[in-house]
Amino acid sequence: MLNFEFKNPVKIIFGKGQIVKISQEIPENAKILLLYGGGSIKSNGIYDQVMSALKGFDVTEFGGIPANPEYEVLIQALKVIKDKQITYLLAVGGGSVIDGTKFLSAAALYQGEEPWDILKNKIRTDKGMPFGTVLTLPATGSEMNSGAVITRADTQEKFGMGGPGLFPEFSILDPLVVKSVPQRQLANGITDAFTHVLEQYMTYPAQAFLQDRFAEGIMQTLIEIAPRIQQDPSDYEVAANFMWCCTMALNGLIQKGVPTDWSVHAIGHELTALFGIDHARTLAIIVPRHYRYNFEQKKEKLAQYAERIWGIQEGTVDEKAGLAITRTESFFHSLGIDTMLSQYTDDYEGTAEKIEERFTERGWLGLGEHKSIKPGDVRQIVALSY
Ligand code: NAP
Ligand code: FE
Repeated sequence: MLNFEFKNPVKIIFGKGQIVKISQEIPENAKILLLYGGGSIKSNGIYDQVMSALKGFDVTEFGGIPANPEYEVLIQALKVIKDKQITYLLAVGGGSVIDGTKFLSAAALYQGEEPWDILKNKIRTDKGMPFGTVLTLPATGSEMNSGAVITRADTQEKFGMGGPGLFPEFSILDPLVVKSVPQRQLANGITDAFTHVLEQYMTYPAQAFLQDRFAEGIMQTLIEIAPRIQQDPSDYEVAANFMWCCTMALNGLIQKGVPTDWSVHAIGHELTALFGIDHARTLAIIVPRHYRYNFEQKKEKLAQYAERIWGIQEGTVDEKAGLAITRTESFFHSLGIDTMLSQYTDDYEGTAEKIEERFTERGWLGLGEHKSIKPGDVRQIVALSY
């Protein structure tokens, strides 16, 4: 097991009817900016619950944060923060709204001239404006971590950011919100959370027995509940387990003491930036190609995963590992997720070369747990997807 430090300060308030507790978590004299997305919270009743919990507080609203939160839109929200002297941010939404809020938390206190530099130059945020979240969509884990991913529409770029100053102070996880989540987003949520676990697990054996079992527990639970949540998102117990899996998949716990990969996310972000494909779907495209391409490096862990997750006990290490990749891809298909880039766009020619060029220009010269995946390898991985 590798050395590690672990601190996660997010207060999770989990369960039925917990949105009302927002008022206990935000200072009475706060000037709040309530941030949300395209309006789903207005039709599913979450907005009303939040506003009634905030009765008596000074609240300004900023709606319209798009999926894959856009810098251009967030800059308008930053202006509101400055003009209204906002002191507290409240994100009500999925990963996009929460990530957008993290960017604002950082940008509000940023001393430099151009907030895009936070993303472009990977400036770590040690202190941000305080914020809390009300999660409406289990998927990303953003509600309990300190990372965010922001898109710039004009240049078709999508960059990550983060730092210890960007943990939410609190996050309210009320599984009742899941009943209004559309099928497409349920499938995305399962896929994103599953891939988060894979990125922290599918590396090389690190003698981190407990971490492996945590990771396997989350994957097994996601596989078990996937058909049930798709069939009936209003089943509270299933929704509650789904929500907690997604949070646990990326709150830092399972990545401690183990090598992590994250190549799938790095490459996937480019597919979202270039084609607007949903984040989770880009991961489903890249996972099977990445594991096939890096088979020799990963096959021992793939074989363990084959045995413990897919019950494949027969065969050699190579056979089990190969079957595990096939089963993973079939799992994505079972959710209704296509796994080839060519199923999402006809305009895929040249994508592999373009991503290779971008990674080279940015100096992203070694991805993965061994930092050995070069831009040329990335090109070959992407090329396998069409
Ligand atoms: P999302 O982009 O936040 O939301 C997707 C859609 O779901 C939106 O149209 C939203 O509508 C709708 N929605 C959300 N909650 C709903 C509800 N309860 N009922 C009905 N509709 C609902 O999706 P996401 O998958 O959570 O977030 C994706 C983003 O997070 C990507 O940019 C990805 O890169 C990023 N990400 C971040 C992390 C991290 O750790 N920070 C990890 C993985 C991915 P409205 O807009 O109307 O609300
Ligand atoms: Fe993700």
